[in-house]
Amino acid sequence: MDKSIRNFCVIAHIDHGKSTLSDRIIDKCLSEGHRKKQDQVLDSLEIEREKGITIKSAVITLNYLSKSGKTYQLNLIDTPGHVDFTYEVSRSLKACEGAILIVDASQGIEAQTLSNYYLALDNGLTILPALNKIDLPAAEPDKIAMDIEEELVIPKEDCVKISAKMGIGIDDLLEKIADYFPEPNGDQSKPFKALIFDSVFDAFRGVVLCIRVFDGVLKTKDSVSLFHQKTVYEVEELGHLGLSRQKTKELSSGDVGYVILGIKRAADVRIGDTLIHEKDRTLIEPLDGYKEVKSMVFAGIFPIDTNDYADLQDAMEKLTLNDSAIHYVKDSSLALGFGFRCGFLGLLHMEIVAERLSREFGMEVMLTAPSVQYKIHMHDGKSLEIDNPALFPDPNYISRVEEPFVKATIITPEEHLGSIINLVIDKRGIQKDIKYNLKRVEAVFEIPLAEIVFDFYDLLKSLSKGYASMDYEIMEYRDTEIVKVSILVNKESIDALSFLVHKDKAREKGKRIIENLKEEIPRHMFNIPIQASIGSTVIAREDISAYRKDVTSKCYGGDISRKRKLLEKQKEGKKKMKSIGNVNIPPKAFVNVLKLKQ
Ligand code: GDP
Ligand code: MG
Repeated sequence: MDKSIRNFCVIAHIDHGKSTLSDRIIDKCLSEGHRKKQDQVLDSLEIEREKGITIKSAVITLNYLSKSGKTYQLNLIDTPGHVDFTYEVSRSLKACEGAILIVDASQGIEAQTLSNYYLALDNGLTILPALNKIDLPAAEPDKIAMDIEEELVIPKEDCVKISAKMGIGIDDLLEKIADYFPEPNGDQSKPFKALIFDSVFDAFRGVVLCIRVFDGVLKTKDSVSLFHQKTVYEVEELGHLGLSRQKTKELSSGDVGYVILGIKRAADVRIGDTLIHEKDRTLIEPLDGYKEVKSMVFAGIFPIDTNDYADLQDAMEKLTLNDSAIHYVKDSSLALGFGFRCGFLGLLHMEIVAERLSREFGMEVMLTAPSVQYKIHMHDGKSLEIDNPALFPDPNYISRVEEPFVKATIITPEEHLGSIINLVIDKRGIQKDIKYNLKRVEAVFEIPLAEIVFDFYDLLKSLSKGYASMDYEIMEYRDTEIVKVSILVNKESIDALSFLVHKDKAREKGKRIIENLKEEIPRHMFNIPIQASIGSTVIAREDISAYRKDVTSKCYGGDISRKRKLLEKQKEGKKKMKSIGNVNIPPKAFVNVLKLKQ
């Protein structure tokens, strides 16, 4: 191969400076004035910039002229840092030979530093540690370099000290990238084989695939297909991804670039699939790393105004054009009308989807309480996977229920360990392993996913004053005792508020919801019982006592027209309310009750 290519990614715990470093590398490699300054160019979605996190990985091809006078083609792949997106990180890693592991020199090694490190190691990458933020007074690069030597077994001399923000040490880092990371090895003469590690959506061209070529050559007009799929496509265009797309005639082994095949929906492409020449199908072993993206957290999405259902449907369709990780089916609720039942990668993904719906499509939506998926084994030998409380079968027919568990690794200063263990126990978790490392403790727990997806992360952060960090991976399903709690108003169940929960937590959570609901429902002329129940057993109850709300009493004297106006207004208010069990419930009651922390 006559070109010198370095395919690498940047991995780090969230906020340690991946995006900032990527920008600095891009700055250096592009001659001055070549690009419009826009901070964090790799974070292309508007919301990503605002939230300061990278949702989708992206790639950029750059030329770097080394001090020795040799030109290298650098393919820099940005990766998301949050646990919800581990699968995306692992795909990006498979496209690379090297990884820059950023560690914030004022924070040190954190949970995702370790998990990303092991992920990179498992994929056989060469790892180059970069200690970032050395401009901060609190930075302790020498101490962190020692930690890295001890915990990650990388010689401390290999750590590059940088400040991505101030542009310190970037030249040094680029030289190391050229020296340290290996040349990709592949065989140009073998049948073409490339990994699809990402896709971006272009309103005019459809899905643009990001690929890493392992063997062979791909040219325009070639007949290709995805290994795990039958459709045959023709290559419309290919090239490198600079700041914009740069068309080329071919992509060959070692290259990272883009391909346009005329695919219209992101959902039609499985990221992680192998791109091949259709004629070679029988000759090729697909690349590993292909995995169905599995939803972990489920919730209903409903328009706040029930008349907006058609608009919401339209928005959901458009959203999935460039987010293939959302799964959704139609759903309907007595209380909330028509909407969708959706599956997400995690809670953060769910929040991002709701925010994109509001920001990009102007859709105000409400989400029902998030739930995980339970495996339900019935007496008749059948089993079901259920995430929607509405579909939970009659307990009489259930023989046992299983729920997903995660292995959670928490890194914390030692003084917070006690309260973290208490939190884990309260969340039905089991302590597995504790390692002491100077001042930090690395503790491993097994915790039900259902407990993690609610407020666990927030509680962990506040217990540890922000110092503890966490990473988790899905382990297995285990036996559990899950019940469905229904919320009844005047003896009638409100479907939107029912939830699935471990039996030990049922009363506490049911009580909290009915107490909140009580605040949201106006008094009526009769007494209204609000109950939480499991089957026919009531586990908590509140009452709204009867009261005749005489709005006209506000008008003293005889102004009859004012009185009439008030009565009309009251009537209108009633019309907008939902009537359940003869009780008028303001629509915002559901929103408010569901919005509360679980
Ligand atoms: P990412 O989540 O890993 O992509 O992190 P970002 O690149 O978004 O950086 C997180 C925060 O750290 C931002 O506020 C950056 O401005 C800041 N930051 C990044 N690099 C440095 C640095 O070298 N020095 C200082 N002081 N701040 C930095
Ligand atoms: Mg970022």
